[in-house]
Amino acid sequence: MTLTDHLVARIRQDGPMSVADYMAECLLHPTLGYYTTRDPLGSKGDFTTAPEISQMFGELVGLSLAQCWMDQGKPAPFTLCELGPGRGTLMADILRATRGVPGFHDAARVTLVEVSPALKQVQAETLKDYAPTWIDSVSDLPDQPLFLVANEFFDALPIRQFLRDGDGWSERLVGERDGALLFGRGPIGPQAALKDRLADTIDGDLIELCAAAIPILTVIAGRIASHGGAALIVDYGDWHSLGDTLQALQNHERTEPLAAPGQADLTAHVDFEPLAEATRACGCRHTRVTPQGVFLERLGITARAQALSKALSGSELDVLIAAHRRLTHPDEMGNLFKVMGLFPAYAAPPPGLEP
Ligand code: SAH
Repeated sequence: MTLTDHLVARIRQDGPMSVADYMAECLLHPTLGYYTTRDPLGSKGDFTTAPEISQMFGELVGLSLAQCWMDQGKPAPFTLCELGPGRGTLMADILRATRGVPGFHDAARVTLVEVSPALKQVQAETLKDYAPTWIDSVSDLPDQPLFLVANEFFDALPIRQFLRDGDGWSERLVGERDGALLFGRGPIGPQAALKDRLADTIDGDLIELCAAAIPILTVIAGRIASHGGAALIVDYGDWHSLGDTLQALQNHERTEPLAAPGQADLTAHVDFEPLAEATRACGCRHTRVTPQGVFLERLGITARAQALSKALSGSELDVLIAAHRRLTHPDEMGNLFKVMGLFPAYAAPPPGLEP
């Protein structure tokens, strides 16, 4: 049975499904889902991420988190957590870069939030020297200081899409005809969660909501507010988005979101505004949303690239220069990707994200 067969059968039985249900099935179906069955990263995979482009990304993230930990009096023990760690590359770079920070490794309890059995295996291999623990949900995070990073995690969470129609909204749904999936629309009605968006939208606009992000953020912000810590949330998106940002990637190429269920990565832009609101509601502070290029430049990525370049020549040097550009240049990831920091009311914001 293919995932398309499964989805068509489900739609025939229950009626059209939300884009969020479609995304969740495509990404996380236990035996046919995209993340559950493969390692999608790298040149042979479907997409690549900042830590897979260069070790510099994780090193600088690690130093920013370690500086927060020192500024807060080196609490021990603490949770060093990553949401959706992919191949474990980012966490490995964080840990390598912080080896010289006295006490950091002894106090860190490396904790990974991951759903994919395939990727857990890869992470176990990459991080075997650090005895990581896996948890299924942030609600299992221990009650202790939390230093956390999430890179390209929130963009994988399911979103619902709504089209404005007069003063009401109709949900974009996934249905089927003759065994083929297609988009349709649900009935028009009011949407309590969207009442604030009538002011900045017009008829025909499409709005996305990521309900799953809020309880996750609430737990993280709650831990940081009550026990100390910091979080760096890195993702592509903006304060709040307008329009259809649902995107499918297969073999580094864009494809139609309904074309290859379970075979393509599905993501959507992250809206930072609701994440910021959830943070404040927990009594935790957040920084401004800072472009990734600015964040990395402030942390000294150019000096780091120069230091690394001394040992390189020829094509290796070209790769390093290209990686620096790709991570920071406004035409590449530098502006599309944003970073928001979370920190307790009594502490300084994470380095790289100063106001
Ligand atoms: N952070 C990594 C990988 C990003 S890909 C990097 O920067 O390279 C997204 C990651 O999130 C994958 O590890 C995927 O399996 C995981 N993931 C996706 N949805 C998830 C969910 N609902 N809960 C936990 N992990 C999830």
